[in-house]
Amino acid sequence: MKNQLHDMPSEEFIKYGYQLIDWVADYLSNIEKFPVLAQVKPGDVKSNLPYKAPEIGESFDKIIDDLNKIILPGTTHWNHPNFMAYFNSTSSGPGILGELLSAAFNANGMVWKSNPAGTELEETVLNWFRELIGLTPIYFGIVYDTASVSTMHAIAAAREYTGLDFRTNGVHGLPKLILYCTEQTHSSIDKAAITLGIGLNGIRKISTDENFAMIPNKLIDAIKEDRSKGNLPFCVVATIGTTSSTAVDPVDSIADICEKENLWLHVDSAYAGVTAMLPEMKNYFKGMERADSIVINPHKWLFVPVDFSILYTSKPDVLKRAFSLVPEYLKTPEESVINYMDYGIQLGRRFRSLKLWFVLRYFGVEGLQQRLREHLRLAKLFASWVDENSNFERLAPVYFGTICFRAKPINNLSEDELNVLNEKLLHSINETGKVFLVHTKLKGKFTIRLVISGLRMEEKHVESAWKLIKEKLRELES
Ligand SMILES: *Cc1c(COP(=O)(O)O)cnc(C)c1O
Repeated sequence: MKNQLHDMPSEEFIKYGYQLIDWVADYLSNIEKFPVLAQVKPGDVKSNLPYKAPEIGESFDKIIDDLNKIILPGTTHWNHPNFMAYFNSTSSGPGILGELLSAAFNANGMVWKSNPAGTELEETVLNWFRELIGLTPIYFGIVYDTASVSTMHAIAAAREYTGLDFRTNGVHGLPKLILYCTEQTHSSIDKAAITLGIGLNGIRKISTDENFAMIPNKLIDAIKEDRSKGNLPFCVVATIGTTSSTAVDPVDSIADICEKENLWLHVDSAYAGVTAMLPEMKNYFKGMERADSIVINPHKWLFVPVDFSILYTSKPDVLKRAFSLVPEYLKTPEESVINYMDYGIQLGRRFRSLKLWFVLRYFGVEGLQQRLREHLRLAKLFASWVDENSNFERLAPVYFGTICFRAKPINNLSEDELNVLNEKLLHSINETGKVFLVHTKLKGKFTIRLVISGLRMEEKHVESAWKLIKEKLRELES
């Protein structure tokens, strides 16, 4: 191959670069032609790929050919407007271009000096976003890859906040640390507990009310009980927009308890947090401004491609105390700059802020607000269809863009039979490849979740999804 010791020649980069940009534009314009859920079986993709890397470099034409033949059919299309599963995350033109540049610079922002623009752009866009969601400048922001990692850092800071020297001693010989959350809290909190030596037995899951929100009095009781046993309560995780049903814990009341008990309050709003940009949604976020740390994922519902999670903390010094460790080769003379490596376990970091910068500037605050509002409107609309149909019932309030419901035809089916029916219904919907939905269990009930947060979603998509759901139920009943 020509030019063996150097990069791809510039002419070739331009040729395939344009070709791939065309490819992406076509892909996004024609996304509805693909089945939303990849129609492959386990192993299908692998079996079409060679066992070994090529000895000799191959032409880019051949690589693009395999992209089309092997990779594309094995991809589930998150950008598809009928992707209504999980918490959908969609990418956008400006977000994709931000990714492109991030790879082009390939600047590693370990310390300010290693990428000054990366550090200061991250600071700037996170300050912009902080203001948009109504937080004061006492909050310091940092980007991690995912909410799971943001939360793990928050809980590590909470552990540090106890004043016991975990850094040096680990958890040896110290009282048992206790973290409080609910049954509805995301599994990433459990994973953080596993990672940080708190252990699953160090988690107390506080009971929730009929809307799946934490009951503050039960939290007070649990803290009292733990203290009387000689355990060490240290952290409460409250969620605004839980994963299963988008429940909202009463953060303001929980903040009162945390203040009184001197516990770290972490707010997980990975999914719903972006809607704090809307004045009419402020009531869901009451008390968030009292949290010690907050996680919000722009990669979920703000059209920034994965990965992009923000952790805000009002106690950056504690986070830094938990993690800062500066080897000789990373010592730099600049003062009053942020060296992001001081605030977490990772040293190297991608130039992620470009993506959010592009998205915020291109769509503008108003543009983003309009899109979020439209999703919220469509969710209310879908909920009204469910409510008006006697063959269906809604199983949780609709606060954001997620509707939890199930089929409940009028004939008297038992709970077990309803669970079987709804599982079959979900399966038959997904099997069509036209819409992708997932389920959860709420109070033992098999619950179908429909999520509206995709950039390309319009009313017609929600309408056709509803039509398909009703059609599949009729087929099952006949
Ligand atoms: C999605 C979600 C998470 C996990 O997010 P990742 O970025 O995938 O780690 C955590 N908490 C809540 C409430 C979520 O919705």
